[in-house]
Amino acid sequence: MTSIGIMSAMHEELVAVLDGLPDKQCVRVAGRDFWLGNWHGHSLVVVLSRIGKVAAATTATVLIEHFGVKQIVFTGVAGGIGTGLKVGDVVLAHSFVQHDMDASPLFPRHEVPLYGLSHFETDKALSARLGSAAQTILADVDRHVGADAVDTFALQAPRLHEGLIASGDQFVADASRSHGLRQDLPDALAVEMEGAAVAQVCVDYEIPFAALRTISDCADDNAPADFSRFIREVASLYSQAVLSEWLRTGA
Ligand code: SAH
Repeated sequence: MTSIGIMSAMHEELVAVLDGLPDKQCVRVAGRDFWLGNWHGHSLVVVLSRIGKVAAATTATVLIEHFGVKQIVFTGVAGGIGTGLKVGDVVLAHSFVQHDMDASPLFPRHEVPLYGLSHFETDKALSARLGSAAQTILADVDRHVGADAVDTFALQAPRLHEGLIASGDQFVADASRSHGLRQDLPDALAVEMEGAAVAQVCVDYEIPFAALRTISDCADDNAPADFSRFIREVASLYSQAVLSEWLRTGA
C-alpha cells in the first residue's frame, strides 16, 4: 500500500487528526515525531513540521526519503490577504510563491535561483479531490464545529477559495506589511510560513502535493486575540473532517 504524508506546522493544527488516528505508532527522525497509522484503508504518515520554510522542507524530505510517501497534503492555518477572505474561510492552493525570495538583480524578484520559477504549482487532480471534500465539510460546518466557536469566531457560511498562497519566514501581523504583500503579489489569497518550501521539495521529487489552509487572521493588527483557541476549536476540526471525507471517498 502506498503511503500518504500529512503535514501541519503546529500541534494544535493536527491535534484532532492525531487523536482520531487508530493504532498509530510513533517513529522519531530528525527530531520530529512521525505518526504511522491507517485511516479509511489508507496508510498515513502524519507529522508536525514545526514553523517556517526550512523546518517544512526538512520534514517533507524525510517523509519522501525515509518513509517513501507517494503524495503529501499540508493542512493548517494562514492569514487572509485576498479581498473578501474572512476568518473561517478555507484556501486551496493552486500554487505557492516565496514572498521573501529576492535574489535581484541577479534573478527576477521572487524567482527561486536556478529553477527559473517563482511559482510552484500543486497537483491538480489531488487538489481537486481535496477541494471537493472541503466543499462538503464547509457546507455543513455546524456539524463539525461547536456552537460556541461558531459564535465566537462569527463563522457564517464559510467559503472555499482557490489560488495563490505566499509563504515566508515571517508572521505577518501588521496592516502595512500585508498592504506591501498585496502590492507585490496582487493575486495572493493568503500568507503562511511553510507551503512554498514543501511545494518546491515536491517538485524536486515529482511527488503530488496539495495544501489547504483555514484563514485564522487577516494578517493585520486585528489578528484574533485567541489564535490558539481558533486553531483548536475550528481549524483543527476542519482539517480532521476534510481529511476524513477525502480519505473515505478514495483520496
Ligand atoms: N503566535 C503563534 C505564531 C505561530 S506562527 C504562536 O506563538 O504559536 C504562525 C503559523 O500559522 C505558521 O505556521 C504559519 O504558517 C501560519 N500563519 C497563520 N497566520 C499567519 C500570518 N498572518 N502570517 C504568517 N503565517 C501565518
